[in-house]
Amino acid sequence: MSDGEARARVGNVGNGFAYEEPLLFERSRPGRVGCSLPRLDVPEVDAHATLPEGALRDDLPDLPELSEVEVVRHFTRISTWNASVDLGLYPLGSCTMKYNPKLNEKVARLPGFACAHPLQPVELLQGFLHLAYELERHLAEISGMDRVSLQPAAGAQGELAGIMMIRAYFEHRGQRRSRILVPDSAHGTNPSSAALNGYEVVAVPSGEDGILHPDAIEALMTPDVAALMLTNPNTLGLFESNIARITEIVHARGGLVYGDGANLNALLGIARPGDLGTDVMHFNLHKTFSTPHGGGGPGAGPIGVKNTLAPYLPVPVVCRRDGAGYDLDYDFPRSIGRLHANFGNVAMAVRAYAYLRSLGPDGLRRCAEMAVLNANYLLARLRPAYHVPYDRPVMHECVLSDQRLESTGVTTIDVAKRLIDYGYHPPTIYFPLIVHGALMIEPTESESIEGLDRFVEALLAIEREARENPDLVRSAPHHTRRSRLDETRAARRPVLRWQPEDG
Ligand SMILES: *Cc1c(COP(=O)(O)O)cnc(C)c1O
Repeated sequence: MSDGEARARVGNVGNGFAYEEPLLFERSRPGRVGCSLPRLDVPEVDAHATLPEGALRDDLPDLPELSEVEVVRHFTRISTWNASVDLGLYPLGSCTMKYNPKLNEKVARLPGFACAHPLQPVELLQGFLHLAYELERHLAEISGMDRVSLQPAAGAQGELAGIMMIRAYFEHRGQRRSRILVPDSAHGTNPSSAALNGYEVVAVPSGEDGILHPDAIEALMTPDVAALMLTNPNTLGLFESNIARITEIVHARGGLVYGDGANLNALLGIARPGDLGTDVMHFNLHKTFSTPHGGGGPGAGPIGVKNTLAPYLPVPVVCRRDGAGYDLDYDFPRSIGRLHANFGNVAMAVRAYAYLRSLGPDGLRRCAEMAVLNANYLLARLRPAYHVPYDRPVMHECVLSDQRLESTGVTTIDVAKRLIDYGYHPPTIYFPLIVHGALMIEPTESESIEGLDRFVEALLAIEREARENPDLVRSAPHHTRRSRLDETRAARRPVLRWQPEDG
């Protein structure tokens, strides 16, 4: 076993006790209990006499019967089978899987936030409304937008809302515009959001250098184009340095600019999308502002707009009434309506607010600086071993490819799978689509230099393995409980819950 393998093995079994008990999920025994309920403190009544027939059941539900220690061990054990930011670097490009400070978790669990009822009267929700109002103002300040709404539950829903506002804006002006320009490096949610709003999606080709060029926009920016959707830095980690000229062209022809804010981490405290010509954008609180995501957990995708689009904001809008505290304003006749039953994912807003307040403006800027430095450090150390399709200084992430491994038969998916043996969650792979065999790595500002070096060593070791023993890489991972799965089936027909066997 090589050094790397030994480390990988230890990394994957946590404390080194890799014992697996038989029948891991079949532990229920009749009569076993894990809690003691308090004594009844209300008068006992005859249920049959007081409840309607249909509300009663004759048999007990078939719930597992277990002791507390069995439940704790079960969930603690399976929690160690997951990759997580708390266990190691999670370099999933474009996802900004930064460390989530525990302080955020603590404040998100404060009973005033966690136990608030969504239908509580506003007089009793002043604390949260105050936080929402402040968070909206902070996000507006950071991004250079005029107004922000916290409602959208994810980046994708923020995009949907933003394009709905753009559509409402042109409808109100009586302009028929049927197309939206989307760069060929864009995230899949961009064309989806445009198409869901009935727009025809027109792909804008990136230049040889991986960024957009004004002449490409000029050629496509016809009078029937409603908007350009733009991610900056783009998904190659490159700053769109022609942005000022590009947004100028779009505006001169009556169009609007949608900013995909997923990569805002690279710009915090340094540049503001609003100053660069963005009219409407979404934030991914669960990327830039530390809230964890992935694994189906909730996110939050607030949207920011310039004043021209403010009348179309989703309702209700949090507002401050002179001398009367905070309130919800529904008086937006041109609003695109409600996007969320209540206030959006409130706990995400609380985490993001705690993150912003604990870092302050200087701390935020330092996040961006360190994230960019870390990505460039990785790129510099990996360049000798891996092909770099667009070899320029990057912002917060870098994109490599498997091109130089071609003679070994090892491809991007194999490198990603082998990284798991070294104890790392794989980076984003095969995205952006314009790079064949892409490996998109985003270290974030959370990592120490030692952590970055360990990750580099793993990738360098895998490159050597690919040349010396390609089968080892192509059959990885070797140290996980499951090796290669049918990923299509897992995505299309997921079995998300264990089911008891019959009988
Ligand atoms: C993550 C991401 C999105 C979508 O955000 P979700 O919160 O996952 O819906 C959009 N664009 C880019 C570039 C992203 O990385």
